[in-house]
Amino acid sequence: MELINLIHIELPQIQCGRCNTSGCMEYAEAIASGEAHDRCVPGGQKTLNKLNKIVGSSYKKVDMEYGPTINNQKVSIIEEECIGCKKCISACPVDAIVGGINMMHSVIDDICTGCELCIEPCPVDCIEIIELSDKEILKPRNDSQHFFDNKEFIRTSSKRTKIKNYSNKNLNISEKINLQLKKRDINKLKNLKSMQISIIKSDLEKIHKYENDDIDGFIDKNSD
Ligand code: SF4
Ligand code: SF4
Ligand code: SF4
Repeated sequence: MELINLIHIELPQIQCGRCNTSGCMEYAEAIASGEAHDRCVPGGQKTLNKLNKIVGSSYKKVDMEYGPTINNQKVSIIEEECIGCKKCISACPVDAIVGGINMMHSVIDDICTGCELCIEPCPVDCIEIIELSDKEILKPRNDSQHFFDNKEFIRTSSKRTKIKNYSNKNLNISEKINLQLKKRDINKLKNLKSMQISIIKSDLEKIHKYENDDIDGFIDKNSD
């Protein structure tokens, strides 16, 4: 088997980008070209040991600068709180989220790898993490390269700007996510109002050419 494939099958297939690539295959290709293979924090020591054997080197520890790790998990959208902004769809590397603009969104369980990339972009914090067993996570991760490639293929004409999370930025994002999950206090009416205000502001600015002060005045006058 080709070196890239030997490396790739040992990676966890979460497609999280924490190794500073767009996903597992890109990292396998980078390792085969000589890049350090100690950056897959979700794979941990087990993956590192296997890669050491394949590549013929002896990294002792995973570089936690590329962390934090990712548990066996999937995410779920609190559907009655979702405002249908589609930001999570853009962030998902494997197209595991379905939904239309201004409509409720849902996660397809069989596809979600638990990569967490959709959590931070959600403006109303309505995506939660659900723990899974080793067995339950197998299917999404086994299929993830297929769905990742599909998404890339669909986007070939308009290249995706995927968030590449790495080192300190990863850790900061993770802290932010944990804080968001701890402080979860969802208020649907407040969320809807804030979304409506942002749409109105954008229309006033782009279509009606309002200045900032005029926009604030208009919002103050018309909001209850
Ligand atoms: S860090 Fe994420 S994207 Fe990179 S190889 Fe590991 S699981 Fe795949
Ligand atoms: S739904 Fe969220 S956690 Fe699941 S694969 Fe997509 S981006 Fe990752
Ligand atoms: S980012 Fe959050 S609010 Fe927006 S569609 Fe996704 S789940 Fe719904």
